[in-house]
Amino acid sequence: LLLAGLVWVLATGRARAEAKVRTATSDLREREADLRAFAAVAAHDLRAPLSVVAGYADLLDEGLAEGDDAATLRPTAARIISGVDRMCRLIDDLLAYATARDGSLNLEPVPLRRLVDEVVTDRIAHLPPPLPDITTASLPTVLVDRAMVRQLLDNLIGNALKYTHPGRPACIIISGHPQPDGRVRIDVADRGIGIPPDDRPRVFTSFHRVAQHADGYPGTGLGLAICHRVVERHGGDIAATDNPGGGTVISFTLPLMGAAPVATRRIRPAP
Ligand code: ADP
Repeated sequence: LLLAGLVWVLATGRARAEAKVRTATSDLREREADLRAFAAVAAHDLRAPLSVVAGYADLLDEGLAEGDDAATLRPTAARIISGVDRMCRLIDDLLAYATARDGSLNLEPVPLRRLVDEVVTDRIAHLPPPLPDITTASLPTVLVDRAMVRQLLDNLIGNALKYTHPGRPACIIISGHPQPDGRVRIDVADRGIGIPPDDRPRVFTSFHRVAQHADGYPGTGLGLAICHRVVERHGGDIAATDNPGGGTVISFTLPLMGAAPVATRRIRPAP
């Protein structure tokens, strides 16, 4: 019996060690893939626009030397500004991805309703009409890293506002659903253009963009990869599903603080 016990202890110890090695190996493989993708982005998505910006800067310089007037020079300056903006967005997303992946996690109680209000207020502050219709329901207090979850909500609400049918205001419902395991599932549901079924599992991979959305919807393909990392760091899951009747639902889980959920209410942008 003693011998059988010893064999069992050795076998489970070995199985556990093997599982650890497997996890470490797959983590290393993932990091290697990330590094390769980042090198490709640095080479293409940053280097190419930088050359374009440098070209326009030369044109602007020549125009100034020849005494061109402001109206002639303005379109060239606008191209420089938009190129620089695009590169800044990409660098911001790359930094946010690195923080979500490896930054330290400072857990604190965070009332989700207040955090969502903050993000929505910032997001709609400079939006032109038609203004979006945003509803929140039953958003409780969670035990999370505030900055990371703010980034997560900002990315998801930003996408729900961006991927809409042209000319139609966004309609978004953000709702909380407590789970029996001490977590809450948050659904961000929109009535936008939707994600094709084949793309749904892949949109959480860095740099994956839906081919049909490439024209007219600017983006870096990093937003949902950041969301995936943030949720993963909090031990949760994230998935994209179809919103019956049109649109997308992004659902993710976070650890619940235990506060009672609040009632449904509407956030109406000022007219
Ligand atoms: P991006 O910066 O391109 O928006 P994301 O990682 O946030 O990158 O999203 C990946 C892709 O998933 C997007 O390019 C878009 O095609 C699709 N997508 C994300 N959110 C939505 C949504 N709410 N509705 C429709 N498509 C979406």
